[in-house]
Amino acid sequence: MSHPTLPGQPFVHYAQGQLHVEDCAVNALAAQHGTPLFVYSKAAMLAALAAYQKGFAGRNAQICYAMKANSSLAVLQLFAKAGCGFDIVSGGELARVLAAGGDAGKIIFSGVGKTRAEMHEALLVGIGCFNVESEAEIDVLNQVAMAAGRKAPISIRVNPNVDPKTHPYISTGLKGNKFGIAHERTLATYQRAAGLPGLQVVGIDCHIGSQITEETPYLDAMDRMLDLVESIEAAGIPIEHIDFGGGLGINYNGDTPPTADALWTKLLAKLDARGFGQRKLMIEPGRSLVGNAGLCVTEVLYLKPGEQKNFCIVDAAMNDLPRPAMYQAFHSIVPLHASPTVPDSAVYDVVGPVCESGDWIGHDRLLQVQAGDRLAVLSAGAYCMSMSSNYNSRPKAAEVLVDGGQAHLIRQRDSLADQLRGELLL
Ligand SMILES: *Cc1c(COP(=O)(O)O)cnc(C)c1O
Repeated sequence: MSHPTLPGQPFVHYAQGQLHVEDCAVNALAAQHGTPLFVYSKAAMLAALAAYQKGFAGRNAQICYAMKANSSLAVLQLFAKAGCGFDIVSGGELARVLAAGGDAGKIIFSGVGKTRAEMHEALLVGIGCFNVESEAEIDVLNQVAMAAGRKAPISIRVNPNVDPKTHPYISTGLKGNKFGIAHERTLATYQRAAGLPGLQVVGIDCHIGSQITEETPYLDAMDRMLDLVESIEAAGIPIEHIDFGGGLGINYNGDTPPTADALWTKLLAKLDARGFGQRKLMIEPGRSLVGNAGLCVTEVLYLKPGEQKNFCIVDAAMNDLPRPAMYQAFHSIVPLHASPTVPDSAVYDVVGPVCESGDWIGHDRLLQVQAGDRLAVLSAGAYCMSMSSNYNSRPKAAEVLVDGGQAHLIRQRDSLADQLRGELLL
C-alpha cells in the first residue's frame, strides 16, 4: 500500500486503507451526505487554537477568530465556547456571532467600508472595538455614536508598510493597499480621534496580509507598531491594547510557516525587550485556526483524456473551492483509498463542471482514478465554504463536523427552493 502524503493534516490519516478524519471514514460520510461535502475536524480546530493559547500563556491576551475564514455557525460556536472573541467585517458576520452564542464584548469590527447601519447595530450590542480604517470613517463613526448616545471604542488600523511576501491579492499592509491608515498619518489621526466626543481610543491594530510563512514581516510590523504606540502615548493618548492582526500561513504544499507558539515566543520576546510585555494583546487569526482542519470530498464524474491534457471532471467546482481560480492556490488532492502501487495512473487537470476555464481545482496531478471514485481536496477549512457561491445555479455544499467517531451535519446542502427563495418573477 502506498499512502499519499497529507501535508499539514494531523487529524487526517489513512487507516485500514481508508482516508479518515479523526475516527470517521470519509467515504462513509460522503455516501451518507453526498458530494461535494466539506468535512471538518473539531480536534484540529481546537489544536490550532491551543497552539496560540500556549504561546500566550500567562499573558493578558485575547484571541479574536477572524471568522471570514469559515463563518459556519457550528464553527463559531466551537470557538466561542473555547473562549475566543471574533474579528468581524460586516453586519452579517455580527449577526452570525450573536446567533452562535459569541460574546459581543469580545467582537472587533474591521473593514474599510462599514456602513452607518452596521456601525449603529454594533454600537447597540456593545462590541469591544471598532478597528477604524480611514480618516473619513472616524468622522462617520463619531456621528453615528453621538446620535445613538454611545461612545464608540476605537482602534486605528495602521498600515505599517511591510511586505508580507505573499500573494498580491492577500497582501494588505503595503502602501498601495486599500487597508489602514498610513504610518505617517497615524499620530495626527489619533490626536483628532481623541478629541471627538463620540469616540474612545482604546487600541491600535494592524494586519499585514494572509498566508504569511515567514516571521520577519511580523517582527518588522511589530517594531513599527511599537514605535507608533510610543509616539501616541508621548502625545498623551493612552493605548490599552495592541492588536497584531492575523495572517499566519498553513501548510498547503510543503509550506513551512512557523507554528503559532514558536512565532509568538519570538514576538513576545521583542515585546518584553521593548517594555510592552504587560500590555493587553489581541490577535486575529483566521486561516491558521481552520484551514488544515477541513477537506472537501468530491466525486469523479468523467475522465476526458486528450492529446495535450487529461481532464478529471469532478462534482466540486470554483463555486465550492474558489481559491485556485482566485489566487492560483494549491490544494492537495488525494484518493479516499490508499492505492496499491498505482499501475494505471495518469496526470490530470482536476476541473469542475462550471462553464469557465478558470474552474480548476488542481493542475497536473498524478492520480489513479475512474469515474465514480471520490477524491479529497485537502486544506479546505478556510476561505472555501465561506467564499462559496451559487454560480451556475449550483447548490452550496453540505458540511459535517467530526468529533472523534461522531459526525455532526452542521449545514444541509442547499435545496432548489433555497436557491430560488427571495427572487420575484415580473
Ligand atoms: C482576513 C483578516 C484576518 C485573518 O487573516 P488570516 O490570514 O485568515 O489569518 C485578520 N484580520 C483582518 C482585519 C482580516 O481582514
